[in-house]
Amino acid sequence: MWALRGLRNGVVTTRWPSRPDEYAAATRGPAAIRAGRAGAAAAVDAAGLCPTGAISVTGQGGLRVDQGRCILCGRCVTGRPDVFAWSEGPGTAAVTRAGLIMPSEETPEALAEVMTGLRQRTRALRRSVHLRHVDAGSDGSEEWEILALLNPVYDIHRLGMFFTASPRHADILLVTGAGSRGMTGPLRTTYEAMPHPKVVMAVGTDAVSGGIVSPSYATTGGIGGTVPVDVWLPGSPPSPFAIMAGLLLALDRLASGGDHQ
Ligand code: SF4
Repeated sequence: MWALRGLRNGVVTTRWPSRPDEYAAATRGPAAIRAGRAGAAAAVDAAGLCPTGAISVTGQGGLRVDQGRCILCGRCVTGRPDVFAWSEGPGTAAVTRAGLIMPSEETPEALAEVMTGLRQRTRALRRSVHLRHVDAGSDGSEEWEILALLNPVYDIHRLGMFFTASPRHADILLVTGAGSRGMTGPLRTTYEAMPHPKVVMAVGTDAVSGGIVSPSYATTGGIGGTVPVDVWLPGSPPSPFAIMAGLLLALDRLASGGDHQ
C-alpha cells in the first residue's frame, strides 16, 4: 500500500537551493516598503497602522520598517498598499539585527566583516551540522515549521543537517519564543554546554524582538539579551524554506546552492 502510494507520488523532496523551487520563491516574508516609497510623503498615517511598532518615522520624516518586529498581521499591506508589500522568497534572515531594518543603514564593509567572522567559525562544520532547538516561550507555531524540516518535502538531512537532543553534540542552537524569563537560565545553560564553534539563530519574530507582547513581566523581548545571536530570522512563523535559508546563511552555503565553496 505504502509502496504503491510512494510510486504514485514520485519524489516530492525539493531540490532547493541547488535548483529553483516555485513554492520557495513564493514564500511570504515580513512587510517591506515598496521601492521609492520610503520618503516623507508615504510616511503620513503609515506608522500608526502597525500594532508592534515595526513601522516608524525617521528624524528626517522618512519611513522605516523593522522587519524583526513584523508579525505579518497585514494591516499595513491592506491599509497602504501603495506603500507596503509583502517581501517574497525565503531569504529573509540577516546576520545582524540592524540588517532587518529597511531602508538599511548597514555599510557593505561592516556586513562583510560580520560574514567573514561567521565563515571562519563555521568552516569546520562542513556537511555534518547538528541542531539543538530550545523553546523560550514560543506559541508553538515556529515548532511546526521546524518539525516540517524533517518531512519528505524539505528533508533537511539531504543538506547534512541533523537534530540532536544534547547540546554537547550541537553546532547550531535554534531558539524560538519571546524569551520567557523562566527560560533565561536554561537557555544560557544550553548555550554554554555547546562545544565551539557554535552558532545561535533566533527563529521567528518573537525570538528576534519579542513580538507583540514583549518585553513584559514574563518575557525579555526576544532572546538577544540572553545568548549572542548570529542569525536573525523574522517571520510569524518563518517558513521551513526561510529556516533552511537562515541555516545555510550561517554556514555560508546559501550562495553556492547548499554546497561548500
Ligand atoms: S504586517 Fe503588521 S506587523 Fe508587519 S509591519 Fe505591517 S502592520 Fe506591522
